[in-house]
Amino acid sequence: MSSNKEFIVTARKWRPLTFSSVVGQEHITTTLKNAIKTGRIHHAYLFCGPRGVGKTTTARILARAVNCLQPVDYEPCNQCTNCEAALNNRSIDIIEIDGASNNSVDDVRTLRENAKYPPSQGKYKMYIIDEVHMLSTSAFNALLKILEEPPSHLLFVFATTEAHKVPATIISRCQRFDFRRMEIPDIVYQLRNIAQKEEINIDEESLITIAKKADGSMRDSQSIFDQVIALCGKNVNYSEMAKSLHLLDEDFFFQLSEAISNKDSAKVFELSQIVISQGYEIQEVLSGLLEHFRNILTVIITKNTKLLNTSKEFEKKYLDISKKLTKSDILRYIHIINNTEQAIKYLPQPRVRFEIALINMAEMDKAIDLKSLIEEIRQIKTGNYVVYSTIENPTPIENTKSSVDIPETQNTATEKISVQQFLVNNSSIIEEISKLNPIFAELNNCDIELNNNILSIKHENKIISQALKKNVSLLQKYLSEFVLIDNITLEVAQKHIIEESNTETQEKSSSQNSKTDDKEKHPVEKKIIDLFGAVEIK
Ligand SMILES: [Zn+2]
Repeated sequence: MSSNKEFIVTARKWRPLTFSSVVGQEHITTTLKNAIKTGRIHHAYLFCGPRGVGKTTTARILARAVNCLQPVDYEPCNQCTNCEAALNNRSIDIIEIDGASNNSVDDVRTLRENAKYPPSQGKYKMYIIDEVHMLSTSAFNALLKILEEPPSHLLFVFATTEAHKVPATIISRCQRFDFRRMEIPDIVYQLRNIAQKEEINIDEESLITIAKKADGSMRDSQSIFDQVIALCGKNVNYSEMAKSLHLLDEDFFFQLSEAISNKDSAKVFELSQIVISQGYEIQEVLSGLLEHFRNILTVIITKNTKLLNTSKEFEKKYLDISKKLTKSDILRYIHIINNTEQAIKYLPQPRVRFEIALINMAEMDKAIDLKSLIEEIRQIKTGNYVVYSTIENPTPIENTKSSVDIPETQNTATEKISVQQFLVNNSSIIEEISKLNPIFAELNNCDIELNNNILSIKHENKIISQALKKNVSLLQKYLSEFVLIDNITLEVAQKHIIEESNTETQEKSSSQNSKTDDKEKHPVEKKIIDLFGAVEIK
């Protein structure tokens, strides 16, 4: 770029000059063209929509199109004297007013005075009022006066980002057009065209990233584009661009989701350190991660990558990661991210909350698919049950607490342990079967003993013991996968609490069940007896 040539920002330099070159608003430009074609031009238009989507640009094209001396297919020629004057901001028939700074009733009165006079060159005198919602109430009232009986040469375009602030009396006298937020492919398309004309080499990923960052605004995307060119020069590659915009690239989010799906908390911590140490905005990281998981979810649900706004390389990565996660996993991650986003708004030190959220996701147990769980249970009932798929180590009995010589068990479901061995050390088995039904985790809080082929299980809590009682046949099934209990009956009851009971119940319980009570006072003794039993049997 030569130094004496004036630099014009991209948004201005490549501003569309005809209706057909306005991207993404075809529903509006076609209607306007048809209005000119049929001679049904309304005297007031209201253009609503977010910033940077082409409202003012379209208003200016309309202004030139209606005053053009030699229009081409109802588009402005952009060459005749009227078009030229308009393009160089010299036209006295096209008046642009900023509603934010000219919002008083006097401003509108002046406008009204001037509006009386017919156009000097073209057919129409046109007022474009930007940010019209900023006008004061009295200014709106004054404006209404002209709108009620406008001279035939007068044309208004009101542009606003906040249509709800425009009084209904004004809106009802306008034809309203709602401009769409720009879709990412539209922005990418436009930026690619500009890059080609400017002879800039920029890859697809970079264009997509810029488009995403612009959040639906064409103008913003072009400003970011200028910034990237200023930093990277005429050859832009993705990683350099991400660095220059201080963005976390998509690769980072893949590393993060990979680490989370592998339950690799150390890696997760390492990645969160990068976010903190390099000063990335935590809110932005969270919304980036949210979008990343949303993309994975999209792939899981639709089974393809058609709905993703990403490059080919990343489409493949999304397909790969989507095989490692389930829909319910992703929904739970999204829930955690949403909660964290809310929570850190009010925290002076969001960092810790951010790290905890990431670790939470990594440590989260994989959701068990209900469908396959039901299938497993059905198989148990029909006797086709072999090994439950989520049980990784069905019988790793740790032989640390007991002195009894328990034969080494193989890591298969067919090798079962004796009931006596179960009584000595049952924590890993209880852990396994409580994966199948969480109520069985309560076995850890039960007194379990064996008397004449009856395995009695007692819990202090009435409700829990009832729940266990209800599931006793299921428990028998599950236990029989690990323990030799084919000839043993399971009995569940509520444990009597002797310390709290008064003399009456104490008498009652002791008379009913004196033997058990006696043993309950000496759980250690009971275990020792059982241990000897185990030895004797051998
Ligand atoms: Zn013209």
